[in-house]
Amino acid sequence: MKQLFAALWVGLFALNLAHAQAQDLPQERAVPGGVAWVDLGAAANRPDARVGDVPVLVVGDTSRWTALVGIPLSATPGPKTLTVKGAANAWPYTVKPMKYAEQRLKVAPGKVDLSAADTARYERERTHQAQVIATHTDTPPAVLRLRAPVPGPQSSSFGLRRVFNGQSRNPHSGMDIAAATGTPIAAPAAGRVIDTGDYFFNGKTVWLDHGAGLLTMYCHLSDISVRVGDELAAGQTLGAVGATGRVTGPHLHWSVSLNRAMVDPALFLSTAAAR
Ligand SMILES: [Zn+2]
Repeated sequence: MKQLFAALWVGLFALNLAHAQAQDLPQERAVPGGVAWVDLGAAANRPDARVGDVPVLVVGDTSRWTALVGIPLSATPGPKTLTVKGAANAWPYTVKPMKYAEQRLKVAPGKVDLSAADTARYERERTHQAQVIATHTDTPPAVLRLRAPVPGPQSSSFGLRRVFNGQSRNPHSGMDIAAATGTPIAAPAAGRVIDTGDYFFNGKTVWLDHGAGLLTMYCHLSDISVRVGDELAAGQTLGAVGATGRVTGPHLHWSVSLNRAMVDPALFLSTAAAR
């Protein structure tokens, strides 16, 4: 009887630990635009895991490491592999299929059929963004659950296949939060400002680096109140909500990038803030 109680107690304790970990990590959803958890087992040092040549965020301790893999919206479902430096075998994981709905939007015609000058500007900005999204610093983020950057209704429009004025464009790779122009935007976790600018589609934009390939992006701002290189504490204001760039009205567009893949910010919201 004593042993049974002891076994039950240990079982409950293990369950608690698993629960605590699940609350601290982003939700697992191994679909395009989601996050896969890949168990890397025990190791004396943090494994150097990669998808292709892109480093992947690894959390845990010497008893058990877990790779958190951001899966791009463009990923084809099916078996994938992760490599670990110094390991002979690759770690398998599977991307499950996910069908996102379609969203039809009406915007100014000049934001869909681009002039030659706007096309050239957009291409320059796309190249610049590819450099920003490749930012990688070694220190992992202190927290992996994020606060909502502004209060307000959160759309579940991540991943929607978008049709602007009847023409198909890139899927929606972030979360829109409805808020009035001027509403302060708070850093959802500590981070360093790695880019600010006023872009054709994204309008006034701020990028934060939280470490180890976890980045966040804020678009369509009316005002930017930080500079590249600033170190922000969680909750510090980085700018204000606006309607700059390609928008239908004032709101915050919030993107989360993990190992260069835009993933659903809802997976990272702290349980208290999630709805
Ligand atoms: Zn958006």
